[in-house]
Amino acid sequence: MAERTIAAISTPSGEGGIGVIRISGSEAIRIADRVFKSASGKELTALSGYSALFGHVIHNDEIVDEAVATVFLAPKSYTGEDVCELSCHGGGYVTKAVLRAVLSAGATLAQPGEFTKRAFLNGKLDLTEAESVMGLIAAKSREELRLQLAAKMGRTSKEIADIESTLLELSADFAAYSDFPDEDLEELSPENFSRLLKKARQGLEGLISTYDSGRVLREGIKTAIVGKPNVGKSTLMNLLSKEERSIVTDVAGTTRDVIENTVNIGSITLILADTAGIRATEDLVEEVGVRLAKDRIGSSQLTLAVFDCSSPLDADDRDILTLLDPATTLVVLNKSDKGQMVSEADFTDFTTVLISAKQGSGADELEKAIANISGISRLDPAAAVLLSERQRDLATQALSAAVEAENLLNAGYTLDAVGVCVDEALTHLYTLDGKRVTNEVADEVFRRFCVGK
Ligand code: GDP
Repeated sequence: MAERTIAAISTPSGEGGIGVIRISGSEAIRIADRVFKSASGKELTALSGYSALFGHVIHNDEIVDEAVATVFLAPKSYTGEDVCELSCHGGGYVTKAVLRAVLSAGATLAQPGEFTKRAFLNGKLDLTEAESVMGLIAAKSREELRLQLAAKMGRTSKEIADIESTLLELSADFAAYSDFPDEDLEELSPENFSRLLKKARQGLEGLISTYDSGRVLREGIKTAIVGKPNVGKSTLMNLLSKEERSIVTDVAGTTRDVIENTVNIGSITLILADTAGIRATEDLVEEVGVRLAKDRIGSSQLTLAVFDCSSPLDADDRDILTLLDPATTLVVLNKSDKGQMVSEADFTDFTTVLISAKQGSGADELEKAIANISGISRLDPAAAVLLSERQRDLATQALSAAVEAENLLNAGYTLDAVGVCVDEALTHLYTLDGKRVTNEVADEVFRRFCVGK
């Protein structure tokens, strides 16, 4: 049965310079021809690929809009099918009117992600590349964009394909070994099997380790700003947010609720929470804030612990220190403009940064320290990175199977038994990149896309 020809508005809703109605499928050009009359009188079906004509979109004998029709011929198009894109004026009503004309000329409304799904089914991109299309659209920073683009251009797929080929080589060697056990071939030795398995395992471990820092870049770091009252937490939050969001006063204990704010410092997104000052308190309202602050440390990926470095540490400061984990905490020594009464030696194991939130000094050092502690500074945006929970799950399952294969090999099990685990690892990787994937898995990936993509 011939595939349906699909159409959708591919630009966001709302007003803009242009709006694009994309049509894809074997009837795409003929359908577009039915609604589009070029100014030159030339028909779209007469065009070669990558050409365009200016003209009008007509529906029920009425001109709907002026438009440029661009023709792409299979297989050289986004979907790999014949595609016509009608670029009209970008308005909510006008784009819908053009889409209506196209649908009444024989196209079917596209499902979410259906254009990209067709590109996948036609071998234009694999599943990790398809997922990065979505990530690319949602990217919020330069680094994230570079990361998604590297994946879109096949960087992650290539890394996965390398691991697959190592496992395949192993699988083939196992088969050869059981067919010709007496041949004295170097590649058919247990040492070589062990070497290949180790290579595949390390490749998978490396790939999986990229997930967390990639996620931090995409989603931001859940960050708590904590410290006793009046050390400058709100001032720091305002400095990072570059706006007056928290209430800054000289009276201790004025910040009583947790205030959330998403801020970008350099390439890093922080989801900041300014919390009530932590200190022993009789005040009931304030006590709620203190509890929230303690909860917040527990549920945060990063804690900025603020201390007033112009006065010596007191019992409250030392209590707070006991709540903190050096691996996820930056000690921020604030009020450096007023002199320094505490030393970095008071904070063994912790990374410290000296700032003056009021004067704005030390912000660059703070940004660097955050990039270091969150792992972002170690992330190469041009490298292969796993970018979705689905990808990480499958890579983790492949790793378990590879580890199991290594264990069985070392314990002297038969190559048949080891081979079963190697094949299992391969199956997970094929699902990851979509080389062998069920309809349900593909549908699940594309369901998350928007209509028109
Ligand atoms: P919080 O209770 O920890 O949120 O502290 P605030 O941000 O409300 O600041 C308490 C007081 O310290 C305010 O008067 C601020 O202007 C002042 N302050 C904050 N940061 C600095 C700083 O870096 N230097 C100086 N000199 N004063 C500061």
